[in-house]
Amino acid sequence: MTSSLTPDVLIIGAGPAGSAAAFFAAQRGLSVLLIDAQEFPRDKTCGDGLTPRAMHQLSQMHLAEQLAATYTSHGLKLHGFGGSVAAPWPDSEFGQIGSACKRTDFDHLLLQHALAQESVTAWLGAQAEAPVLKGGRISSVTVLHEGVEKQVRPRHVVVADGVRSTFGKLLGRQWHRGEVYGIAARSYCSTPFSEEPWIHSHLELRDDSGVAQPGYGWIFPLGTGEANVGCGALSTDKRPAKVNTKKLLHSYASSVRTQWQLGEPTKVASALLPMGGAVSQVSGPNWLLIGDAAACVNPLNGEGIDYALETAAMAAQLCSTEKDFTLLWPFQLRERYGEAFLLARTLARALTYPQFLPLVGPLGLRTPIIMRSAARLMGNLVTEADRDVVARVWRGAGHVLTGTRGAAPLWS
Ligand SMILES: Cc1cc2nc3c(=O)[nH]c(=O)nc-3n(C[C@H](O)[C@H](O)[C@H](O)COP(=O)(O)OP(=O)(O)OC[C@H]3O[C@@H](n4cnc5c(N)ncnc54)[C@H](O)[C@@H]3O)c2cc1C
Repeated sequence: MTSSLTPDVLIIGAGPAGSAAAFFAAQRGLSVLLIDAQEFPRDKTCGDGLTPRAMHQLSQMHLAEQLAATYTSHGLKLHGFGGSVAAPWPDSEFGQIGSACKRTDFDHLLLQHALAQESVTAWLGAQAEAPVLKGGRISSVTVLHEGVEKQVRPRHVVVADGVRSTFGKLLGRQWHRGEVYGIAARSYCSTPFSEEPWIHSHLELRDDSGVAQPGYGWIFPLGTGEANVGCGALSTDKRPAKVNTKKLLHSYASSVRTQWQLGEPTKVASALLPMGGAVSQVSGPNWLLIGDAAACVNPLNGEGIDYALETAAMAAQLCSTEKDFTLLWPFQLRERYGEAFLLARTLARALTYPQFLPLVGPLGLRTPIIMRSAARLMGNLVTEADRDVVARVWRGAGHVLTGTRGAAPLWS
């Protein structure tokens, strides 16, 4: 008990970001107290898709093979505007294997994996309530656990408390909703095609009366007799998507029911997605925010598990030093994701104009090379090592945009 009250690292939230941070911190020889307000296994509203980027990070944690054994995807099939295009995962340093796993199982797997490390202790059903700050440093955190208030005095605090980041807010975290964010709903449907090795996305959605709706739909097979079926739309404060995502999900599932032999959508749930680093106040001298709490979600496809895992590894590295994180953490996030997120956010903003997709969609979906490139860019699967034309143009656009939109909120 005494050592869990004075760990090297207190991690708040045991989603992918928190559990991965615990694993990576333990690998660096640090003692960790990992807490979560919920008991596990627990559900989390998500599409459950694991891109090659996520699988790459999971292979660092020795979990990729196990996940791929249940389900493997080769890429993305995009549909709409009278066309369909198959975009295989590109050949990059992340590899060409994707997967999918229900978050109830995935998050539990990650938590168990973290707990298999000797120096990790977990308190579940434990709520981080209040930080005590001294000169911006967190000196202690009050945690409500088993009906008792406990004072934890860690050296470092990693805040991985998800999209609403209630603890992050107590530290001043601000979410800038003038920038693009997502609203999305997911469900589980039975299907005999749950082993289909492609994930599918529909860019042209219509309601039951055939009227075009803003947003996109997805079918992510899970390899377990079910698929995750969902839909989402992009919003800003000025242009909120006028759509009921749960209702749209039912219309969408009906439209693909025959082809996929889908059962009725079950466990329908919706949630918000902060995106593209559009938050500020993400660190102090000995604390930092990671994963959704730091809005590390790709605005073009809503994937955040990969960034949750990556920011976890980066945070663990910093916690093994005595550096001051206040300026260093936003700097590291901007260095790693700044250009790509700013570019993706700008493109995603264009998608909040209802006229945009119907205008460019038909051309794109009839021109496979454009859609394959788009799928690669949407997945943020371009790396510094890539030297082809698409990669060079993308990086060039990122440089230009960083110069012109440099003042846009980005972990600042
Ligand atoms: C509809 C939808 C579809 C999505 N689809 C995909 C997809 O297919 N692929 C993908 O990569 N990403 C997807 N995402 C994004 C993905 O779900 C998130 O990026 C990911 O869950 C981030 O993980 P996290 O660990 O940061 O946060 P979370 O998974 O939200 O975990 C946060 C944890 O913190 C705990 N917590 C909160 N406050 C406290 C507190 N005060 N004390 C203790 N514990 C606390 C919570 O109980 C929770 O367990 C989707 C998101 C949505 C909404």
